[in-house]
Amino acid sequence: MSVDLTLKVVQVFREFAVPVTFEPGWERRGNGLTSAYKGGILHHTGTASASYSNPSPTTRILRDGRSDLPGPLCNFQGCFDGRVHVIAAHPANHAGASGGYNTAPLPVTRLFNPQVMGFEADYPGATPMSPELRKAALVYAVAMWRVFGSIQTLRAHAETSVEGKWDPGYASGRTVDMNAFRSEAVQLTAALPRKLLSYLEDPMRVPASMDTTAYTLAVPGSRAHKLVIAAHDKPVWIGSIFNWAAPNADGTPRGTGGNPKGTAAFPPGGKIDVNCPRSFDIPAGTLRCAFEYSCASDFSVTLDPQ
Ligand SMILES: [Zn+2]
Repeated sequence: MSVDLTLKVVQVFREFAVPVTFEPGWERRGNGLTSAYKGGILHHTGTASASYSNPSPTTRILRDGRSDLPGPLCNFQGCFDGRVHVIAAHPANHAGASGGYNTAPLPVTRLFNPQVMGFEADYPGATPMSPELRKAALVYAVAMWRVFGSIQTLRAHAETSVEGKWDPGYASGRTVDMNAFRSEAVQLTAALPRKLLSYLEDPMRVPASMDTTAYTLAVPGSRAHKLVIAAHDKPVWIGSIFNWAAPNADGTPRGTGGNPKGTAAFPPGGKIDVNCPRSFDIPAGTLRCAFEYSCASDFSVTLDPQ
């Protein structure tokens, strides 16, 4: 489980062109506890010598630990130049106890490390991250959203710590504005070139609160696609999916009706809970695809090649 989840996070880094390297033994390394990951914590190493010319000075300590704390001390090391180095797949000693001022939705517990992956950004902390490192940290936030279903599962150590930690910082003792950081991470996904929202025939409705009305969105598709739907914060329900294949002789769309997964998986009017990115197969030859949804917050829709 730990290795699979780590590789899912790595896949997101690669999707955003963040270079990834691996510390040998990463897939076996951990503090001996079994993971039950529910989110991720963002830290700074506070290493003063971190710079473009010395982008990952803390690797050995993050792997082996300190005299007062055995390693590994994180799962991912964010290097000053924007590379991500995978240190350990299994739980690491980075988070201490949780219960700080902004811990939710993560649990309050004295044994927090098995529940959270740790990203140690290798920079002094009393200065801002380099732009490259900041991008890697933002993509880490996107990865937590993708893997655990909500952008809110990414927390700063400052938010969860009960010991007054202030990382990640941008000036001495000052923590990065994490609400703005999480919003920026969501915006990062909007910049993906495959984003389809601008092609939607109707603007997506974004309710201010829970909205149980069923709406329909239609997306064009000229070849075989997967329809990928990702909830940003709160659930999205997909009632049914309709696709239209080859047009009639006069060029009008010919409805094939139903949905591609069959009535057992998606009964008409049924409600499928989409808490994390989920893909739906669309048959080859489809020209247009529509789905019925209701939602509690905004969400994204993309078409990926099959
Ligand atoms: Zn920390």
